[in-house]
Amino acid sequence: MKPAVADPFPRQIELRPGRRRSIELSLEGGRFVARIPASSAGPRLDAALERLRGQLWDRLQRESVYTDAALAELATQVVRSHLNDLALPPWSVRFSRRQHKRWGSCSFDGQRGTIRISAHLVGHPRWVIADVLLHELIHLLVHDHGSSFQRLVQRSPDHDRGRGYLEALETVERVGPRISATLPLEEDAALQAGLFSAGSPD
Ligand SMILES: [Zn+2]
Repeated sequence: MKPAVADPFPRQIELRPGRRRSIELSLEGGRFVARIPASSAGPRLDAALERLRGQLWDRLQRESVYTDAALAELATQVVRSHLNDLALPPWSVRFSRRQHKRWGSCSFDGQRGTIRISAHLVGHPRWVIADVLLHELIHLLVHDHGSSFQRLVQRSPDHDRGRGYLEALETVERVGPRISATLPLEEDAALQAGLFSAGSPD
């Protein structure tokens, strides 16, 4: 199954063989990663990956935004809904697979604005991507995050929860979903002896 619109993501798939019985394909930060059984290779694997890729695109098309064309359409909707009374300069928008630290960026050469949205957002809900687009579209006119910027982002009823969503996402990406603490055992010989004497010998 082919996506209706050409996608901006590379076709090559990074293979990660391991001890598993299924093939899992995921899109991670704009790259395809396939976790496959260690012994699989050849045309059957290629066909399976192509099928999974089609399924993934279909799902992303329904739930999120993944093509530059769909991203531009969403940005146009954002302008229509929230910024229609403002005279925005001409702009274009596309996904960036090189943008790892920021969700979006906006550059302006005095004539045209170029908005780039991090490919890490692909797969996240449309309304979250719309909120990042709103932020960058406002930067076409307002370059800082001062009070007039804040008034404009608040025009979207989704803005506060969009910010909360992205903050949570940043925390999970930085520290992971687990909270853990480590005890260096060698610093406590008595505790170490107690822990290991309780285990059964192999
Ligand atoms: Zn900003």
